[in-house]
Amino acid sequence: MIVKSALQASQSVYRESVESGDYYMRPLKAGQFLRILDLQGNQAADTLFYSEADPTERYSAIDTVREQGNVYLTAGTVLMSTENNPMLEITADTCGRHDTLGGACATESNTVRYALEKKCMHACRDSYLLAVAENENFGMSKRDITHNINFFMNVPITPEGGLSFEDGISDAGKYVELQAKMDVIVLISNCPQLNNPCNAYNPTPIEVLIWD
Ligand SMILES: [Zn+2]
Repeated sequence: MIVKSALQASQSVYRESVESGDYYMRPLKAGQFLRILDLQGNQAADTLFYSEADPTERYSAIDTVREQGNVYLTAGTVLMSTENNPMLEITADTCGRHDTLGGACATESNTVRYALEKKCMHACRDSYLLAVAENENFGMSKRDITHNINFFMNVPITPEGGLSFEDGISDAGKYVELQAKMDVIVLISNCPQLNNPCNAYNPTPIEVLIWD
């Protein structure tokens, strides 16, 4: 569902550009809005959310899909936690569909999906592991890296119930915006994937903006 935001970039309280292969990890307070902007189009933003008060409570794809009765995420979707609490709501979306089934890319999945020699290629899971190691203050470790959201990624379910990774439907300037319903930690890996069309084989930067 396409819903435009009324928020102006000039009114934002925080802006950060995130290169592909880099991560973003910062708190977002209850009531604040977060926009993830696909600057050049066809990028994938692999994203995790945690309760800031207790990071063992975190985003749950399973509870989110069950509560909304839909496997795709878009405006109106309430992201649920592993304790079945509402964490954030998608308040605006100019892309229209986001994936939460395909998972973040990892050296292991690159090996299985593509070729053995892809093992050494940088993957989102590497960026997640670096993020939790460089930000010990959040009290998280490798075990906290679980199932995620792939914003802007097009992963349709086939009639047989399988997953297919298709060309992105995002474009330069498209964005998704969320409002926090609790204090959360946002962890985004801007995907460096070169083997599937999630970012058109050309990883590009994204921008993150926050409003009070
Ligand atoms: Zn990735």
